[in-house]
Amino acid sequence: RAKGLGGRRVEVFATHMHADVLRRLEIASDLQRALLENQFAIEYQPVVDLASARVMAVEALVRWCRGGTFVPPEQFLGPAEDTGLIVPLSEWILREACREVAAWRAEGWEIGLSLNLSVRQITAPRFVETVSEALADSGLPADALTLEVIEEMLVENAEDTIGRLSQLRALGVRLAIDDFGTGYASLAFLRQVPVDMIKIDPSFVSGLGRDETLTLLTRTIVRLGHDLGLIVVAEGIERPEQLDLLREMGCTRGQGYLVGRPTAARRIDSLKRTTLQNTG
Ligand code: C2E
Ligand code: MG
Ligand code: MG
Ligand code: MG
Repeated sequence: RAKGLGGRRVEVFATHMHADVLRRLEIASDLQRALLENQFAIEYQPVVDLASARVMAVEALVRWCRGGTFVPPEQFLGPAEDTGLIVPLSEWILREACREVAAWRAEGWEIGLSLNLSVRQITAPRFVETVSEALADSGLPADALTLEVIEEMLVENAEDTIGRLSQLRALGVRLAIDDFGTGYASLAFLRQVPVDMIKIDPSFVSGLGRDETLTLLTRTIVRLGHDLGLIVVAEGIERPEQLDLLREMGCTRGQGYLVGRPTAARRIDSLKRTTLQNTG
C-alpha cells in the first residue's frame, strides 16, 4: 500500500511539473513574436511623498497583452530571462519610459522615473552605455532616473554587478533596493552598493496595525534607512491605517493601490491629480 501511495505522489508531481514546463516553453516561444508585434505596454504607478502628498516619481511596470489576455509579469519575466529576450525587452522599456517621462517633465510635471532591472540586463554587454544613451536620447536628467534591483541580483555575479551599478551611480543615476527585507544579506550589501533608496516589501507593510511583529519590523527598517541617510519607500499601501502609521513612523515615500494604481500612459493625467487627501 505504501508503495502505491508513493507512486501516485510521484505521478502527481510529474504531471504538475510537465504542465509548468509546457507553459513556460509556450510563453517563451510567444515572447519573440510579442516583441516584434509590440504586444508590450508600460504602466506607471505613482510614488508619493508621504508628508506633502506630492507625486515624486512613477515606477514603470511592464504589461503583456497576449491575444487579448493579460499575462502577469511574474509569469513571463522568468521565461524572458531564460531565453535572453529580457535584454531587448528591457531596452525597449528603458527607452520608452525615459522618453515618456521626459515628455511629461517638459510639460512642467517635475517627476522622476523608477525602473526595475533584471540580472541578464545588468550583466549584458553595453548595459551602462545603453542606459546613458537612453538618457541622452530622451533628455531625461540622470538624477531623475532610479534603477531598482533586488538583493538576489547583488549575490549573483556580485563583483561585476556592483561595478556596473557603481558606474551608473557615478553618472548621477539613483539606485534602489526593491523588496527590501525579503532577500539575503540586506544589511551587508548596504555597505557595498552605493544605494540611495530602499523599498520596504509589501509583506511587511501588509501587517501594519494588524501584526505587532511586522509593525515593529517596519518601524525598524524605516529607522535604519533614515540612519543611513536613505530615502525609504513603503510598497503595497492599501489601507488608510497603513498610511497613518507610515506617516507617524516618518517613512519618506509611499506606493500602493490606496495611493495610486499602475496607469497607462494615455491616462497619465489622472495621476497628476493623485493626492493622498482625495484617495485616503
Ligand atoms: P515590484 O517592482 O516590487 O513592483 C510592485 C508590484 O506590486 C507591481 O506588480 C505592482 O502592480 C504591485 N502593487 C502596487 N501596489 C500594490 C498594492 O497596493 N497591493 C498589491 N497587492 N500590489 C501592488 P507587477 O506589475 O505585477 O510586477 C511584479 C514584479 O515584476 C515587480 O515587482 C518587478 O519585480 C517585476 N517587474 C515589473 N515590471 C518590470 C520591468 O519592466 N522589468 C523588470 N525587470 N521587472 C519588472
Ligand atoms: Mg520595483
Ligand atoms: Mg517591490
Ligand atoms: Mg517584487
